[in-house]
Amino acid sequence: MTHVIFDLCIRDGACAEVCPVECIVPGQPEEEWPWYYIDPDTCIDCGACVLSARWTLSVPKDLEPQYFASTEINARYFSEGPGYP
Ligand code: SF4
Repeated sequence: MTHVIFDLCIRDGACAEVCPVECIVPGQPEEEWPWYYIDPDTCIDCGACVLSARWTLSVPKDLEPQYFASTEINARYFSEGPGYP
């Protein structure tokens, strides 16, 4: 069960700094409060990003139906690009 960033994210990047497998990446432009994305194929579900967030920005992808769109957006960022910098 991967985690996913959804639209309550405050985009401060705290989650990316603590991810042990570096699977959270900023979108473009990185300099201007980018959206962050989680690679669902690399996430090991450790939960470190959830603990780092001032707001709940990452949740198990199948927790609530309203997060399905965010799950799809996160996955497509890696499957269709641009993916990792
Ligand atoms: S649950 Fe762990 S591995 Fe997955 S995105 Fe969060 S910090 Fe990274």
